Amino acid sequence: MYPDVKLHIAGAWGAGSGGETLPVLNPATGETIGQCAVATQDDLDRALEAAARGFAQWRRVSAFDRAKVLRKAADLLRERADDIARIMTIEQGKPLAEARVETMAAADVTDWFAEEGKRAYGRVIPPRGDGVLQFVVREPVGPVACFTPWNFPINQAVRKIAAALCTGNPVILKGPEDTPASCAELVRAYLDAGVPGDCLALVYGDPATISSYLIPHPVIRKISFTGSTVVGKQLAALAGQHMKRATMELGGHAPAIVFGDADVEKAVAVLGANKFRNAGQVCVAPTRFLVHDSVFDRFVAGFTDLAANLKVGDGLDPDTKMGPLIHGRRLEAMESLVADASAQGATLRTGGKRIGNRGNFFEPTVLTDLPLTARIMNEEPFGPVAAIQRFSDEEDAYVEANRLPYGLAAYAYTRSSERATRVSNRVESGMVSINHHGIALPETPFGGVKESGYGSEGGTEALDGYLATKFVTQANF
Ligand code: NAD
Repeated sequence: MYPDVKLHIAGAWGAGSGGETLPVLNPATGETIGQCAVATQDDLDRALEAAARGFAQWRRVSAFDRAKVLRKAADLLRERADDIARIMTIEQGKPLAEARVETMAAADVTDWFAEEGKRAYGRVIPPRGDGVLQFVVREPVGPVACFTPWNFPINQAVRKIAAALCTGNPVILKGPEDTPASCAELVRAYLDAGVPGDCLALVYGDPATISSYLIPHPVIRKISFTGSTVVGKQLAALAGQHMKRATMELGGHAPAIVFGDADVEKAVAVLGANKFRNAGQVCVAPTRFLVHDSVFDRFVAGFTDLAANLKVGDGLDPDTKMGPLIHGRRLEAMESLVADASAQGATLRTGGKRIGNRGNFFEPTVLTDLPLTARIMNEEPFGPVAAIQRFSDEEDAYVEANRLPYGLAAYAYTRSSERATRVSNRVESGMVSINHHGIALPETPFGGVKESGYGSEGGTEALDGYLATKFVTQANF
């Protein structure tokens, strides 16, 4: 049922040259379900040589023809979505329906970049004198090293490889060792669609060993990382030392402001669904709920009810609404955040504990009355724990929303358009979603400010990271 995962290097799938593998566990059962190949330095060298060759080849393919290949990859992802979703649920834990949505969304991302890659237009700049032609072209930056995590095993990867490939750049992808097989299926769809074997490598292994070898390597011209701010800072520093371009999609701690004039029921339903989606392991998950005094009790009652009645279980069970956490370390992290909050006087409204002792299940959890010193008010929980605070003065809500060094996503609910405008002006965040959850479409920018990173993984902005600007000025004889 679950495939052993191989590396893809220079057009061939195979084991790592050292023969080493890592076990892959099902987070719903704790059982070992397969093995993932580990890349050695020799393997990375082969991938780098292939990327250099692939760049010479792929950059000369027209954007129009590259788009045809990507469109085919999107079709293959849609055809294979049921099988891929099942693999993803077994290795990652999310409900099957969410895994299918993720796979279909990857097809949409691929289609969108296929089209947008055709529009990497340059421009002509009027010259100061006769006989001079000045123009700007946008060229592929060169081989890209991508590092992607386990929470969205396909979607974190597809945003990078689609943007890189549509603009003419080969990719070496270090995929997520916890969830390697669904990411490998994404790569397989791209290769089957006609991406040249030298232009898309997939490697797994020790993340620090691989990143510290690839980033400084002269063949690599750009890196793109999705993961924690702590690791992002290390990789950005290494990239800086070697003058490599970088896109950093890092952690968040999204504020969700619910004003007194909000549609409270809608806020509970939409924010609740997004808090517990993927068991809270989402960088844009709402985390700090800032709720106006006048609707606080109603919001907390509704949200607690939603959390307490969420069906938690194996993602293969069609009734499951929330699956397990990815590994034991996340369970420990949740237990420790809840214990710390309780010790500092917070009220536990529901949840707070591991469920059973098989698999990494944790109860959907709601905390209120938290002091700002509680760790969960400062650290990204990356799990199914919501922290709800009250405010009475609108200004205080903005101060709290902007207090942390993160700035990825922010949410607000209000029926006042003036207030909605103030939210979008005042909140320091790369993305602001008001009165609905409208984040992460292929055609809209996706990225953070402050310590949540830089660069964009959606919209036309996403192409900028993969294109170098060349200015040409030419005088006639
Ligand atoms: P972790 O820090 O061990 O790993 C997070 C991700 O970073 C993994 O994909 C891992 O392979 C990668 N990574 C770690 N060190 C690396 C290195 N030196 N070079 C290259 N890649 C490296 O943490 P974890 O326990 O797996 O996840 C917990 C934390 O990671 C969460 O609290 C969250 O902040 C962050 N995370 C963020 C996202 C996101 O979407 N932004 C996704 C997954 C994890």
